[in-house]
Amino acid sequence: MASVKQQFFLMILLLLSIFRSSQGRGFTKPRYPYIKKASSFSSAPGEAYDYIIVGGGTAGCPLAATLSHKFKVLLLERGGSPYGNRNISRLQNFHISLADTSPSSPAQAFISTDGVINARARVLGGGTCINAGFYTRASPSYVNAAGWDGQLVNESYPWVEKRIVYWPNVAPWQAALRDGLLEAGVSPFNGYTFDHIYGTKVGGTIFDRRGFRHTAADLLAAGNPNNLRVLLRASVQKIVFDTQGRRPKAVAVQFKDDNGRQHQAVLEEGAGGGDVILSAGAIGSPQLLLLSGIGTKHDLEKLRIPVVLHNQHVGKGMSDNPMNSIFIPTKKPVRQSLIQTVGITKMGTFIEASSGFSQSSDSIQCHHGIMSAEIGQLSAIPPAQRSLEVAQKYARNKQNLPREAFRGGFILEKIDGPLSTGELSLLNTDVDCSPSVTFNYFSHPYDLKRCVYGIRTIEKIVRTKHIARLSGVDEYPIEVLLNMSVKANLNLVPKHTNDTASIQQFCRDTVITIWHYHGGCHVGKVVDHDYRVMGVAGLRVIDGSTFVNSPGTNPQATVMMMGRYMGVKILRERLGREAAV
Ligand code: FAD
Repeated sequence: MASVKQQFFLMILLLLSIFRSSQGRGFTKPRYPYIKKASSFSSAPGEAYDYIIVGGGTAGCPLAATLSHKFKVLLLERGGSPYGNRNISRLQNFHISLADTSPSSPAQAFISTDGVINARARVLGGGTCINAGFYTRASPSYVNAAGWDGQLVNESYPWVEKRIVYWPNVAPWQAALRDGLLEAGVSPFNGYTFDHIYGTKVGGTIFDRRGFRHTAADLLAAGNPNNLRVLLRASVQKIVFDTQGRRPKAVAVQFKDDNGRQHQAVLEEGAGGGDVILSAGAIGSPQLLLLSGIGTKHDLEKLRIPVVLHNQHVGKGMSDNPMNSIFIPTKKPVRQSLIQTVGITKMGTFIEASSGFSQSSDSIQCHHGIMSAEIGQLSAIPPAQRSLEVAQKYARNKQNLPREAFRGGFILEKIDGPLSTGELSLLNTDVDCSPSVTFNYFSHPYDLKRCVYGIRTIEKIVRTKHIARLSGVDEYPIEVLLNMSVKANLNLVPKHTNDTASIQQFCRDTVITIWHYHGGCHVGKVVDHDYRVMGVAGLRVIDGSTFVNSPGTNPQATVMMMGRYMGVKILRERLGREAAV
């Protein structure tokens, strides 16, 4: 039995641990001794892994953590660590990391052939390190259509939620949107919920109440450190196949480390063996399949890529949910907020908002797409001369704009399950260079119709007293707002003189992205229902590239859930239900 002194000591320890956990999970970051630079990799002869996961992103991290409970896992991420980077961890810097176009930036900018500036994550934690943080689940009908096991889905979402998801401290701009939505008829109010229900709700967020971001990288702490190895700045070049057997089998991957040296990581051989799993995102996964020789034979041959398997569906069915926003200037500065409230309409249009970005000196000097209220922008520059470099030059020259021009917030609308689709194709064989991506925004008339519906709904919201109270202006005529928004939107799409006369034209000309692009490795076309790449052995794709539609109003909850879900499914397949986690 413990002495009084020992009992006192234990009591102090207990109190300290309660105090620490009540401080919030962001205060002390767990140490991850298994996260190393890629240059530390030495492939000792015979060293092999049960699973090699390519991409330490939104799906890759929970997947690696789960599989490591029973198997030896190597997670290869091309970006660096999110820890210690204030542009990632602070909500108020959301737009600054997006505007960072340096080679080590956690956000890699790309422009789709549609002329819309977009971004891909390049950091451990993937999209959860650069996104707007809104957390909301997919609908039960989405889960059914995906053919997922409902019970396991309902266990996998909470696995994520209890680790990194919070309820927001609702900002005035978000409260005004909530009340404006209800007055505009997007009802009922469904309160605080993760569920996808028609009406208006407040969702979860991966920012805690201090505005500190928690990410998918934090989920690695749930793994088994003895079985998990994570390499940063490990840029995977291609998958290596054994083509001697009946069908090609993935056996290894080639990657380049932070010093530019090439390595090969090898899969464990043997019965019931593991897989190479691509979790490199909707741009990265189809790109890697193509670079590895799985794609349309003719296209691969043009780039002299040895063909492993002809599959014309790789890179096809790319979609991005188009977003259009209305900028509302305010007389006084407004509190910063990212998405907290959402209106889910029966028409398949979602309404959200953000506020207060661009007000600081740092912000005024950077371009950041949707969150900027910049007047003039690129619309004066001829279309042929519009490029990322021009956008940067513009940003450098805009220090002298009056600060008042940056006060305000956006109300945005975006389309659920766009019917307009496009494709991805390689421009060259360099994995660090983004492929060509086309989304064909609004090529389907129903998408355009839904955009018009969304803008009309925003018009009703803007007319309510809730917005007027914040803007300090009784009522802005919608033409004035549309006009300002045409100039404020940063895309490279040519503008028209009738932008504000026709809402359809406004939708086309001011289209930007909400960064929910998906597709390229669809289920039934590139992967089967177990996410195994069809026609080859030992290879799966588990991430947003497998989606035909983006889940819920925002996808990250379901992408992380999917990583955990597929990890448990794979363990159960190999070990039986009881032996798995
Ligand atoms: P990612 O998370 O992008 O993971 C892919 C990983 O693979 C990356 O870390 C990448 O570096 C790595 N990789 C790629 N190629 C290679 C290679 N060759 N070798 C090694 N590693 C490689 N969703 C929400 O739900 N709520 C929001 O508020 C929200 N806002 C967003 C705002 C922005 C700016 C962005 C970009 C996205 C936003 N999203 C939001 C969308 C959401 O974050 C993404 O859909 C999701 O993170 C995609 O997950 P993924 O696992 O498919 O890909």
